[in-house]
Amino acid sequence: MQIAIDGPVAAGKSTIAKIISSRLGMTYVDTGAMYRALALAALRADMDWDNAQAMEKLAQKIKIRLARPIGKKNDGRPVSVYLDNEDISWKIRESEMGEGASVVGTHPEVRKILVKLQQEMCNGNDVVMEGRDIGSKVLPHADLKIFMIADQDVRVKRKRKYLTKVGEKLTRKQVQADLVSRDTREMTREVDPLRPTLDAWQLDTTHMSIEEVIDTIVKKVEEIS
Ligand code: C5P
Repeated sequence: MQIAIDGPVAAGKSTIAKIISSRLGMTYVDTGAMYRALALAALRADMDWDNAQAMEKLAQKIKIRLARPIGKKNDGRPVSVYLDNEDISWKIRESEMGEGASVVGTHPEVRKILVKLQQEMCNGNDVVMEGRDIGSKVLPHADLKIFMIADQDVRVKRKRKYLTKVGEKLTRKQVQADLVSRDTREMTREVDPLRPTLDAWQLDTTHMSIEEVIDTIVKKVEEIS
C-alpha cells in the first residue's frame, strides 16, 4: 500500500501523515525533511542555495537518513532526521530551512537525486509519503493520492503556532509572506511543480479537526484495500 500526500505549506500533511502511518502500521516518509537537510548542509558549507551545480554536488555527497523517533527521541518531532549521522531533526524545522529547502528544490538535478532516494525508501514497504511531487513524480502508481489543501488564513495560523512551538516568534505578516513566497515558487517552478494529478483526491482541511481528517482518510483506505 502506498499513500501519497501532496499539498502547499501547512495544509496539514505532516501531522496527518505521521498519525495515519502509525495507525495503519506503515512507514512514514517526510520528503520535505530531505530538502531541508540539504539546505542546512549548504548553509553550513557556506554555499549558495541558488547555485545549482554546487547543490547537485552536495546532494550527491551528503548522507540523509530518516527514522521513526523512538524512546527519548520521541519528543514531538515528526521524524528523526540525520545528516551524516548527526541528529538535525529540530534544526531543520526553523523557518530559514523551509525557505532554503524551497530554493534548493528548484534545481532539476537535485530533485533527480532526492526522488531516486525516496523511491528506494519505498521498495517493498507500505508507505505514507508526503511532499509536493509524490503523486506526480515519486509514486505515480500510489494506491491513494491525496492533495491536501486549506484556506490561506488557516495555514498561516497553523504555521505560526508550529513555529512558536519550536521557539521562533514571527508576526502573522512574516509567516504569511514566507508561505506565499514558498507556495508561488513551488507552483511555478519548471520541474515537478506542485499541482494535483487528475487521479488525486482533493481534501480541504480548513474546517476539519485532525481527528476528522484521520477518520476520513482511514475510511477511504479501508474502501480501497
Ligand atoms: O514539507 P516541507 O515544508 O518540510 O518542505 C520544505 C520544502 O521542500 C518545500 O517548501 C518544497 O519547496 C520542498 N519540497 C519539494 N518536494 C517535496 C518535498 C518538499 O520541493 N517532495
